[in-house]
Amino acid sequence: MSYRNDFLKEVEENVEEGEWVKMCMQCGVCAGSCPFGPHWEHSPQKIFMMIRAGERIQVLSSDSMWMCTSCYNCIVRCPRKLPITHIMHGLANYAHRLGLAPKGQPTRVFAKTFWDNLVKTGRVNELKLTLSHYFRDGFIQGIRNALAMKDIGLGMMKARRINPMELFGGHGLQDLEGFHAIVAKAREIEDRKKGLKNG
Ligand code: SF4
Ligand code: SF4
Repeated sequence: MSYRNDFLKEVEENVEEGEWVKMCMQCGVCAGSCPFGPHWEHSPQKIFMMIRAGERIQVLSSDSMWMCTSCYNCIVRCPRKLPITHIMHGLANYAHRLGLAPKGQPTRVFAKTFWDNLVKTGRVNELKLTLSHYFRDGFIQGIRNALAMKDIGLGMMKARRINPMELFGGHGLQDLEGFHAIVAKAREIEDRKKGLKNG
């Protein structure tokens, strides 16, 4: 039986560590080890099987890769030493770039909110990050979220983990231009490596 197909080749060429997918022997250890496995549509084992079966849209539009918490349980236990975590994130990233990632998937939404927050000043503004996350579904829901989490929020303020003054600016890197140049260069190198033209 040949495992070669166009989608496997596409994954090998475009997805981080994608060349490892063909090494999977479908033992199921990763699926059994993943703490969130029962809550996903497709376990890593199944995702790798689907790639080899050429199920391109089903894989790339799946939200399973977005559920990975990078606990590394699967990597530690895989008898073939596949870098499963990296492949899962690589698949999510590739699907995002192709515009095939599921819209509104919570992990994806938060990752984008976090990235936008970080890149703006070079440092995460925890208060603005929290508020943009709470209020992403509208003002009323934002108030509900904030009230539900008020004890934790107040505790973080007391412990100086969140500073209310960050709402009016907050800390950032001194050489912001240099930081943005580094990010742009990293993106350019990554895109060139993967043969992608936009991010
Ligand atoms: S543990 Fe490794 S070899 Fe086994 S199914 Fe998962 S990825 Fe494949
Ligand atoms: S790293 Fe991701 S895929 Fe692997 S066991 Fe943890 S949550 Fe599951």
